[in-house]
Amino acid sequence: MQILELKKEFDNDWQTISDSQDLEKLRIKYLGKKGKIAQAFTELKKLSLSEKKQIGPELNELKKEIEKNIDKFSKNISQKEELSNLYQSLPGKKPEMGHLHVTTQAIREIIEVFKPLGFNRVRYPEVDWDFFAFESLNMPREHAARDEWETFFIQGLEDKKMGKAVITPHTSSGQVREMLKGKLPIRMLNIGRCGRRQIDINHIPSFYQFEGLVIDKGINITHLKGLLDYFAKNFYGPERKTRIRPFHFRFTEPSFEVDINCDLCLGKGCRFCKSGWVELGGAGMVHPNVLKFGKIDPEKYTGFAFGWGIERTYMMKSGTKINDIRHLFSNDFRFLEQF
Ligand SMILES: [Zn+2]
Repeated sequence: MQILELKKEFDNDWQTISDSQDLEKLRIKYLGKKGKIAQAFTELKKLSLSEKKQIGPELNELKKEIEKNIDKFSKNISQKEELSNLYQSLPGKKPEMGHLHVTTQAIREIIEVFKPLGFNRVRYPEVDWDFFAFESLNMPREHAARDEWETFFIQGLEDKKMGKAVITPHTSSGQVREMLKGKLPIRMLNIGRCGRRQIDINHIPSFYQFEGLVIDKGINITHLKGLLDYFAKNFYGPERKTRIRPFHFRFTEPSFEVDINCDLCLGKGCRFCKSGWVELGGAGMVHPNVLKFGKIDPEKYTGFAFGWGIERTYMMKSGTKINDIRHLFSNDFRFLEQF
C-alpha cells in the first residue's frame, strides 16, 4: 500500500477546490464511509503485523492531516460565502441620473407653445454669410447699425457676392433663407446658436435665440400683438401680459421692443423692474426691402418677425430666480441640478 501516492493524490485534488461543494466532494472521496482512507484501513488489515506497525501510524497521520485541512478550509469558505451573501443583500448604490440642460428644456417648451399655431421649426447655419446676417436684412455693408451686433468674423472666408463669413449674431439670418425657399405662407420658428463679442450678467458670447417669422396676405400688427400675448400666457402663465414699445431696427418697420409684466410684482412696479415691465426682446413688421431680398412682393404680402434670446426668455419665467445668465454655462452641478 502506497501511503505516499495517496497523499499525492489528495494534494492534487486539494488544488482544485474553489467552493464548499468541491470541498464536500473531496471530503466524501477521502473521509467518507467508502472513501480512500476507509479503503486503506481495510487493506491494512490484510497486511502482516510488521507492515501494520509501519504503515498504520503513517495512515493515521495522513487521515488526521486530511481532516485538519478540510476542517480549516471549510471554516474559511463558510465565512467567505456568508460575507458574499451579506453583500448581495445590501441595497445597491443607485447610478446618478442626468437630465436635460436648462437651455434644451427651454427650447423644447418654446417649440411646444408655437406648434399648435402651425409654426415649423427650422435650423439655419451657425456660420453664415454677411448677406444673410446683415445685407439682406436692410443693413448695407459699412452701415453703422451693424455695430450693435458685436459680430465675430471668420478670418479668410469671403465671397464676392455674399461678403464675409460670420458667426450668426442673431437668428434673423434665417429670415431671407426661409423666404428664398419660395413657399408661402410662412410660419417659421428658427432656433439656433448665435455669437456676439459680449459678456456680463445679461450677455454671453455664445447663446441661443428663437426667431418667429410669419408672412401671409393681410398680416398686421394686431396679429403680432395677439401672438405675443398667446406666447406670454402659454409660456409664462395666464397672469402674464406683454406690451410693445416703439423701437428701431433696420429690418422691421415699424419696430418694437416687447416687454412682459414683471414676475415679481405682476406689473405693480418693484425694485427689480421699477415700471412693472421687463424687456423681453425685439419684434416688428418685416421691412419691404427684406421681403424683396426674399423675392416676395411687398405689395401682396406682409409679415412680422420677432427674435429673442432663449436663455433670457427662460430667466424671466416665474420662479426661476436666475440672476446671472453666465450660471447657465458654468457647468456647476449645484446650479444645474435645480432645474
Ligand atoms: Zn416688478
